[in-house]
Amino acid sequence: MAKRDYYEVLGVQKNATKDEIKKAYRKLAVQYHPDKNPGNKEAEEKFKEATGAYEVLGDDEKRAAYDQFGFSGVEGMNGGQDFSQVFRGFEDIFGGDFSGFSSFSDVFDMFTGGGSGRRGGSGIRQGENLRYDMEIPFKDAVFGAKVEVQYTHTELCTSCKGSGSANGSSKKLCPNCKGSGQVRHSQGFFTMASPCPTCRGEGYVNEHPCKECSGTGAQKKRQKLAVTIPAGVENGKKVIIPKQGNVGANGGPAGDLYVFIHVKPHEYFERNDHDLYCAVPISITQAALGAEIRVPALDGKTIKVKVPPGSQNGKMLRIRDEGVPSGNFFGDLYIKLIVKTPEKLSRRSRELLEEISKLEGENEAPKLIPLSNLS
Ligand SMILES: [Zn+2]
Ligand SMILES: [Zn+2]
Repeated sequence: MAKRDYYEVLGVQKNATKDEIKKAYRKLAVQYHPDKNPGNKEAEEKFKEATGAYEVLGDDEKRAAYDQFGFSGVEGMNGGQDFSQVFRGFEDIFGGDFSGFSSFSDVFDMFTGGGSGRRGGSGIRQGENLRYDMEIPFKDAVFGAKVEVQYTHTELCTSCKGSGSANGSSKKLCPNCKGSGQVRHSQGFFTMASPCPTCRGEGYVNEHPCKECSGTGAQKKRQKLAVTIPAGVENGKKVIIPKQGNVGANGGPAGDLYVFIHVKPHEYFERNDHDLYCAVPISITQAALGAEIRVPALDGKTIKVKVPPGSQNGKMLRIRDEGVPSGNFFGDLYIKLIVKTPEKLSRRSRELLEEISKLEGENEAPKLIPLSNLS
């Protein structure tokens, strides 16, 4: 089945507010909830589709990635596969009003296929998201780059394959939850279930824990990863690498790696949104007569720029499409002209300037300039 556009799925405009998106999803979730449509495959699909769409559009970062790059921008960021996060988000959406929902665990079990042979299937848990802070050169933030990161995360223990028990040893029923994997507590008129802390939701505890991982089923591992920095990325933004965080528990999905981008300032260039700014010196004769100058651009090439005759100090020249890329368009480059008055003059230069001075009658008293004309 071809994937439908997420906005279309929720029936909202591209510029819908967070609130509108939330409302639209809530309406669909109530309408298609499996409790209200028992055995109805189509309703179940609709419910999953809406949930997948909300998972992306309800999250600022994921929504931005989707808006810019479409499905590929949020590829692997769940998109309807991983429901543990949505599951956690339900309370937020429904604000405690669970009419039509019998309990969290029912919803959850549906998505995990009834626990896939395990007792207490809700022991399945997504791994933690990890944060990585990265400083990148100004130029890489503008043009994009591929950068290698090295960090430590947890992976499935190779010795016990994640089971947590020593080779061949058996498991016994968890004494805390009696094998259900859940502890339930009532909140108002609905029951909430959370993973049992003793067995971490599995329902069983290991009689002989695996020595490699002390029974956790997870192992620390140093990881190398090539991260693509998208062209035009802004300081403080993050790039999400799906499934590269810590390993999930009991077959749950891995967490994500959040790479936070810190952009080093540049000696000669500044940035505002998608526009770049720099300054170049010109001589008084270039300013007066006009000139063609060569300006070194950020990417190393030189741009030929026409200085119009009669240019004042501080004049801004705008060069279209030489700024920061963003999708299919580019920002502009603004060049500030700084008129340099010569500090030392050769005899010949002095003579010529004195001649101009006489010609212009510069010994008359100057008029004042209105301050509003100065920028
Ligand atoms: Zn192990
Ligand atoms: Zn337990």
